[in-house]
Amino acid sequence: MRLAIMIGALLMTAPAHATDWKLVIHGGAGVIERSALTPDKEKEIRAGLDRALAAGSAVLARGGAAVDAVDAAVRVLEDDPNFNAGRGAVFTLDGKNELDAAIMDGRTRAAGAVAGVTRTKNPIGLARKVMEASSHVMLSGAGADAFSREQKLEQVDPSYFSTDYRRKQLETFKTTKVTALDLEYRYGTVGAVALDTAGHVAAATSTGGMTGKRWNRIGDAPVVGAGTYADDRACAVSATGSGEMFIRVGVAHEICARVRMLGEDAGTAADTVMKEVAAIDGSGGVIVVTPKGEMAYSFNSAGMYRGKADASGRKVAIFGDEERR
Ligand code: ASP
Repeated sequence: MRLAIMIGALLMTAPAHATDWKLVIHGGAGVIERSALTPDKEKEIRAGLDRALAAGSAVLARGGAAVDAVDAAVRVLEDDPNFNAGRGAVFTLDGKNELDAAIMDGRTRAAGAVAGVTRTKNPIGLARKVMEASSHVMLSGAGADAFSREQKLEQVDPSYFSTDYRRKQLETFKTTKVTALDLEYRYGTVGAVALDTAGHVAAATSTGGMTGKRWNRIGDAPVVGAGTYADDRACAVSATGSGEMFIRVGVAHEICARVRMLGEDAGTAADTVMKEVAAIDGSGGVIVVTPKGEMAYSFNSAGMYRGKADASGRKVAIFGDEERR
C-alpha cells in the first residue's frame, strides 16, 4: 500500500511527457575535403560547432524549450566568422551581405522568417520576432530591417558581417566561370533542430545565401517547408545546399510528410528526399529530429559541418567518411 502511494506520488511529479532531449546542428554542406582545411582551421570549425551544441544543450538540459535551444545554437554560429551566416556571410555580386533566416516551433507550427536583411546582428533573432511579435510569417528587405529597429534588436553597421575570406571568394567568383550554385562558393549555412524534454520539436536556419547572388535572390533557408520546417506530429528539419533545388522539392516539409503519413523513420525519409534533390542536380544536406527521439543527417555533398548532442554527450563531424547518421 505504502509502495503504491509512493509510486503514485512519483508519477504525479513526473512531467506529462518526459522525453530525452536531442539536438542536431549543421554548419553547411559542400566540397569539404581534408586537403582544403588546414589543421588550425579544422580545429576552429570543430570548436565552433561544439560551442553551438553546448549552447543549445544547456537550454535543453535544464528543461528549456526546443525553440529556445535552436535559437541559442544558431546564434553562436551566426557570431562565428567561419560560417556563412551573420558575421562571415557570403557576398552578393555587388559586394553586400544580405541575410536570410527562419525559425519554426513544432508545437503550433508557428514560424517566422526574414530574407535579405542587412543590419540585424543576429538574423535568427529577427525571424523569431516575426514569429512572436508580428502577425506575419515572412518579411524581407528594407521592411524587415525597419521591423528589426522597431523591435529594438541589436543593429550593426553592414561592415560587421564582412570577412576577408568571403570577399576573396567574391573576387574569385567574379574572375572565374563558376556559377552561384557552385558548392565551393557558398558552404557554411547554419541550422539546428531540437527535441525538448516536453516532447516538442523546433528548427532554425540562417544563411548569407550564395556568393555572387543578385536581383535580391532568396534561397531555401527562410522558405518554410523548403529549408526549415517543424511539426510535432512528424519531425524538425533544417537544410543546407543548392537552395533553388531545395525549394523545388519542398525538402523540409516533404521529409516531415513522409514521416507523418508513411511512418518512415527520419533517416529513410531524409535519404529518399535527398535523392529527389540529387535527381534535379541539387546537392547539400539536411538534419532531422523526431518527437520519438531519432536524430539523422543526410547529405549528398562531399562533406557537411555537423554535430549532435543528447544527455550522453556531444559529437561533431565534418568529412564524408565520419559519422553519416
Ligand atoms: N541553402 C543556402 C541557400 O541556397 C545556401 C547553403 O546552404 O549553402 O541560400
